[in-house]
Amino acid sequence: MKTKLSRYDYGECEVCDTPLVEKRINQDFWIGGQLIVVENVPAGVCPQCGAKVVNATVGRHLAELVRDKKRIAEAIQISVPALAYH
Ligand SMILES: [Zn+2]
Repeated sequence: MKTKLSRYDYGECEVCDTPLVEKRINQDFWIGGQLIVVENVPAGVCPQCGAKVVNATVGRHLAELVRDKKRIAEAIQISVPALAYH
């Protein structure tokens, strides 16, 4: 499935009222104790405070992606630092 690059009006930041800019972000999810990272997610990002929003279509697609066991099994694996809080 191809993701169309559509112009979406994200409106203004809910925190500081700055117009949001479309960027590609890496979004992380904890699913059943497993950290899953989705790269290049189209999102509205606030240039002022860094708040991020995804639109409903993208949100639905993300929800499908992180439940797709086959894609997860075939995905590249990255390792991340895990720190203990002391
Ligand atoms: Zn903001």
